[in-house]
Amino acid sequence: MLRAGVAAHDLDRICVTHFHGDHSLGLAGVIQRINLDQVPHPVTAHYPASGQHFFDRLRYATAYRETVRLTEAPVAADGPLAVTEDFTLDARLLSHPVESYGYRITEPDGRRLLPEKLAAHGIKGPDVGRIQREGALGGVTLDDVSEVRRGQRFAFVMDTRLCDGVHALAEGADMLVIESTFLDEDVRLATDHGHLTAGQAAAVARDAGVRHLVLTHFSQRYSDPAAFEQQARAAGFDGELSIAQDLMRVPVPKRT
Ligand SMILES: [Zn+2]
Repeated sequence: MLRAGVAAHDLDRICVTHFHGDHSLGLAGVIQRINLDQVPHPVTAHYPASGQHFFDRLRYATAYRETVRLTEAPVAADGPLAVTEDFTLDARLLSHPVESYGYRITEPDGRRLLPEKLAAHGIKGPDVGRIQREGALGGVTLDDVSEVRRGQRFAFVMDTRLCDGVHALAEGADMLVIESTFLDEDVRLATDHGHLTAGQAAAVARDAGVRHLVLTHFSQRYSDPAAFEQQARAAGFDGELSIAQDLMRVPVPKRT
């Protein structure tokens, strides 16, 4: 977090996909950091309910002074975990040797005002705010002068073989961050160990209409990251593609 320039105060919610070490050992440090920095707001942690004993150990791995209200919100089923004005957070069960969940954040749809339609109806000044608040003004409805601005979707899919949850999370995502541990020639290994290949991940993204695909979680057996890119393109994914490296920052795509 220090190297990435992420402050403990930036955290409101922690989503753990599963309790393998490479996906959860960092929790002890993150939890102690938010306490050391005395983050003033509550923080909620989501994680597979079956791993509660692992969460307990990581939360209390060593001695420290608890200053932060950390709410434990274990995940035991598919569905929404949080619905706020700004977003909905959903979880879907994945398929891995230990219980694993993927997450998706969805913004609510909004409305974008169309200046030429407003002008055509003679709506200007304070009336623009009024029609937005009240939904209609003198026989003109908000629908007449605006269009739907679809909310952005971000999906995070770690450690899983292909399953319904992968497709459901990826559907219509503006950005999908997904594991591709293996290259396509090792698809047997991938399936046996509960992982994806670059081609599988990219095919999911292609079918789901993903705009920006971020591949990550590469096996150390491979030395050339370009091979993941080549296989993703060979699978027919033609959107934005990033091959993740540590500390890389990938902006969410602009709203359409
Ligand atoms: Zn794992």
